[in-house]
Amino acid sequence: MPIRRDDRGRYVEVEPRRTEETAWLRCRECGELVFRRKLKESNHICQRCGAYFFLTAHERVTSLVDEDSFEPLGLGATSLDPLEFVDRRPYQERLEEAQAITGLNDAILVGRGTLDGCPLVLAVMDFRFIGGSMGQVVGDEIAAALERCAQEEVPFVLVVASGGARVQEGMVSLLQMAKTVAARNVLAEAAVPFIAVLTYPSSGGMLASVGSLADITIAEQGAMIGFAGPRVIEQTTGERLPAGFQTASFALEHGMVDQVVTRESLRAELTRALSVLQGGSHG
Ligand SMILES: [Zn+2]
Repeated sequence: MPIRRDDRGRYVEVEPRRTEETAWLRCRECGELVFRRKLKESNHICQRCGAYFFLTAHERVTSLVDEDSFEPLGLGATSLDPLEFVDRRPYQERLEEAQAITGLNDAILVGRGTLDGCPLVLAVMDFRFIGGSMGQVVGDEIAAALERCAQEEVPFVLVVASGGARVQEGMVSLLQMAKTVAARNVLAEAAVPFIAVLTYPSSGGMLASVGSLADITIAEQGAMIGFAGPRVIEQTTGERLPAGFQTASFALEHGMVDQVVTRESLRAELTRALSVLQGGSHG
């Protein structure tokens, strides 16, 4: 990997900048190489072992809301790189690459739409954008969406796909946990429904804040749900973890989620949950 000096004179490795995604993906469960275009035809589910590949934010939105009903509401902001952070590469460079690949300003896509004719505001995270991590922009977007929903009395649906807080923003990223929780309380005071959908992965600061505070929490099959990774926990506690730890069904058995649903049935279950929360008749 080529080396260059950053603007503080330190040597950093420079990975070649990517502006488009690779054509092949490896299944994290069975190791099979899958052609990305083929994956679209199978609803992004591995044909060999049934593992779920994550959806992009745009794919998720399309799979959930009524056709042509989605209208983006994003604030349009980009990260200010408050620490001028550099690890193997400058944070700024990672941001630009993620923006080019995802077509998003940051790791979340927010908009309004309808689901079976019912209006809602939807915030969907994109794992391709620096692991779906929550920095200031993601925090601002979620808080603004929650406050808008409280004001307009429209239900809020958050689809989590996040590795946690964005380390490149340091303390600023941790503050987003408190901010989104405060905004969630504004929605609760307005008695407006909030549904969280936890997908692969739902972890770290996102799970330890607004991601765990919905009225109804639905886990998509194949989700990984847990604050820290299993290896970190085993190394810290010196104990072996139980089988199936951090899977969606484990979270259901231990009361962390209300329901586990397949990707195919998520839309119907969301409709049902919204209907129940709004006092509809077909709950
Ligand atoms: Zn597989």
